[in-house]
Amino acid sequence: MAIDFTLTEKQRQIQLSARSFAESHLAPLTDKVDAEPDPLKGFQLTKDAYAEACKRGIAFSMMPAEYGGGGLSNVDFVIAAEEIQAVDPGFGTTVLVNGLGLLPVWYYGTEEQKKRFIGTATADQSGEFIVGYAASEPPGTPGGTANFDAPAINGAGMRVTARRDGDEYVVNGRKYWPCNVGGWDNQGANLNLVIVRTDPGVGGTVGLSALMIERGTPGITYRSISTSAQRSTPNCEIIFDNARVPAENLIEGTRGNGDLVINRNFAWSGPVAGIGAVAVARTAYEEALRWAKTYTAGGPAPIINYQYPGYVLGDVAAKIEAARCFCWKAAHYLDQHGYHGEMLGAMCKVHCTEMMFDCVYKCLQVVGVNAVDRKHRFDRYLREAALLPLYDAGNFGMQRRRVHGVMVDETFNPRAFMDDEPVDFTKGMEGIDTIPGPKTDEPTIPSPKVAEPGFVKQ
Ligand SMILES: Cc1cc2nc3c(=O)[nH]c(=O)nc-3n(C[C@H](O)[C@H](O)[C@H](O)COP(=O)(O)OP(=O)(O)OC[C@H]3O[C@@H](n4cnc5c(N)ncnc54)[C@H](O)[C@@H]3O)c2cc1C
Repeated sequence: MAIDFTLTEKQRQIQLSARSFAESHLAPLTDKVDAEPDPLKGFQLTKDAYAEACKRGIAFSMMPAEYGGGGLSNVDFVIAAEEIQAVDPGFGTTVLVNGLGLLPVWYYGTEEQKKRFIGTATADQSGEFIVGYAASEPPGTPGGTANFDAPAINGAGMRVTARRDGDEYVVNGRKYWPCNVGGWDNQGANLNLVIVRTDPGVGGTVGLSALMIERGTPGITYRSISTSAQRSTPNCEIIFDNARVPAENLIEGTRGNGDLVINRNFAWSGPVAGIGAVAVARTAYEEALRWAKTYTAGGPAPIINYQYPGYVLGDVAAKIEAARCFCWKAAHYLDQHGYHGEMLGAMCKVHCTEMMFDCVYKCLQVVGVNAVDRKHRFDRYLREAALLPLYDAGNFGMQRRRVHGVMVDETFNPRAFMDDEPVDFTKGMEGIDTIPGPKTDEPTIPSPKVAEPGFVKQ
């Protein structure tokens, strides 16, 4: 009985409790937040729901129980995430980003750092504690986000720098896109994990690290970005102007390994983003089915009785089932392999977000022109579905590149996922397909022989 899709009693409880939270605390808000023109005000409208999520243990449910978190497995977390994102995908991202900001501390931090950062977040009783994860940078300066692991010196890649000065790092540059980072008032989240270039003289596979930056650190400005979807989660631009951060806030195992943090983070979130796409498609499908079962187009019976709507919705239902299974499989793989799944997480995210976008588009075809009437909310489903392939590491620049990097390696075992075997992820697999920097005559750094955090089960 190794393969069994029955939810355990505990998983059923997690699913029902996430569904009841979403229906009672998010559903009444979601249209209002989506329509609010000021992105910060829109985010603030979710504050009571977030406090409730803290009270119910949802906000840090993905963190290990040993450090005060909810101790959910990845499979459990994905089951809960579907219910939340079916009602409000943006709120799901707010919770997800708490994990992106703190899980690297668990993977790579010292015991003292784990207690200090994870323990503080999970012990907080205010109902406001929020954590950001800042990897992304503005487009074209010089390489946006997608080329973060470009190995060439002066190549494309990250440009927020952290220069060591005594017991501090001095941080300069701009980030663009990160969620949660501005907190509830654009004065800063309680904690932000920021990927910085600690060594500007080397390429992205050896020069990046992760710093924890606390609320109240001088020299940092946050500005809201107005997005086309997921308007309940707060995206920001961050400007660092000689911000001074204690050197002890550098997460020890990330020294020179910020590239691995980014790859591992966006692998962990792969099935969560994938299930977000399932959730959006599920909501669109249920609405389209309801429409097809009630709308007659003036004929003798509702349109579901005709071939086109019946076949199309049948295909949509099948694809939703298939994508959900892929997300469960990818989450299970992460559980089995110490939160490593750099290739499978990416494959899951790419496949599910793109397949579900097509499902939502097909639901609009079934409903017809009435899908354009905003009161039926299909424009919202389409906007939400269109965002998913682009966020959480874009499917083209970042996720497919990672899949390609693993696949091209001579050690790659094409049956590994079928056989539930580990697929190691090394720095030698990074840098593939990256855009060269402006100085193409610069030497390229070969795959480094630096110590990497091993493939260790947590
Ligand atoms: C709602 C939302 C929440 C987000 N939350 C966060 C967050 O919490 N933290 C965070 O750091 N970021 C966050 N982001 C940003 C998100 O992770 C993006 O996916 C990330 O910035 C990468 O964007 P990109 O892949 O489009 O890269 P870009 O560098 O902007 O590249 C743009 C495009 O250029 C092309 N391209 C560039 N380089 C290559 C290449 N080498 N090979 C092939 N094609 C290439 C691709 O078509 C790519 O899609 C969020 C974004 C949104 C919308």
